[in-house]
Amino acid sequence: MSDPVLEIKNLDVDYGVGPGSVRAVRDVSLTLHRGEVLGLAGESGSGKSTLAYGMLRLIAPPGVVRGGQVLYHAPGAAPVDLLTLSNARLRAVRWKEIAVVFQGAMNSLNPVHTVAQQLTDVIAAHEPTSTRASRLDRARELLDLVGINAERLDSHPHQLSGGMRQRVMIAMALALEPRVVVMDEPTTALDVVMQRQILATLVRLRERVGFSVLFITHDLSLLVEFSDRIAVMYGGRIVESAPAGQLYRDSLHPYSAGLLDSFPALRGPRRELSGIPGSPPDLAAMPTGCAFHPRCPRAFEPCADRVPVLAAPGGAGGRDVACWLHS
Ligand code: ATP
Ligand code: SF4
Repeated sequence: MSDPVLEIKNLDVDYGVGPGSVRAVRDVSLTLHRGEVLGLAGESGSGKSTLAYGMLRLIAPPGVVRGGQVLYHAPGAAPVDLLTLSNARLRAVRWKEIAVVFQGAMNSLNPVHTVAQQLTDVIAAHEPTSTRASRLDRARELLDLVGINAERLDSHPHQLSGGMRQRVMIAMALALEPRVVVMDEPTTALDVVMQRQILATLVRLRERVGFSVLFITHDLSLLVEFSDRIAVMYGGRIVESAPAGQLYRDSLHPYSAGLLDSFPALRGPRRELSGIPGSPPDLAAMPTGCAFHPRCPRAFEPCADRVPVLAAPGGAGGRDVACWLHS
């Protein structure tokens, strides 16, 4: 495995403080490696967005990071903990080195400026000594990278489709030549064909430009196709993490298996979708033991009493699971 770029260690994030607070991210440890596309999957409410906002200190009150470390490894420098960095240094890292595209990002384009203006403004901030002509060339190149015709440079956001606006946002994120791109459901507002096109573009760009991607979605089938590794979240914890192909062929956690059975496969023979019975846990009344036990078809004696630890099954490297069936 290549070098780590971002190492999340034992991250805890709460909503609220004091007796009424709830823990939405519990003791999460996760590493994004250089050049890797890491997918983060889980049902709505499993804590994916809280993890992404929390680790970058973008979480809004009542959200509060309660503990852990988020180590960012810049080339040739000692790692820095994003959770303890000064606000000014954090802003610089987030702006230049870690780009973020969140849900509904396309709505944050400025409606009164053209695509060219918005892209060249970002490039000017990144390369203040560049000329206007070179910024326009770069804007053209960036649009081309995300599959939009350069003629669209003079369009205003309302003249573009949702898919195009989201691609422009991705182009803006890439304009800074980040080392890490974090995307939280950046494609859910788009149809399936568009989602796949955007993801395919990202993976191609990753190969050309060499950044790492943390891609968050509830749609595991997209991740199976496009990511190198997948981490699955349930009730604020990572319950399984494995290379994408392994997780697809042989998921170990019953929740991952249920998620895989909730989406049609994009390739291969059709299979019946069974989904997962019941609903995600209420953070204010988390089940004891394994949080998945009330919904788990394979629950047995220890599950309701003891929390399973995320560990390599049978000492096997490369994958981890938190389930008593494999401890
Ligand atoms: P989605 O895919 O719907 O965005 P998610 O997996 O990203 O879901 P989060 O949005 O991180 O999940 O939410 C995790 C948990 O935190 C949920 O139970 C949610 O109800 C709770 N939560 C989120 N925002 C708040 C808030 N402002 N106050 C209290 N609880 C919150
Ligand atoms: Fe199911 Fe038990 Fe494994 Fe939890 S620990 S997923 S309840 S078998």
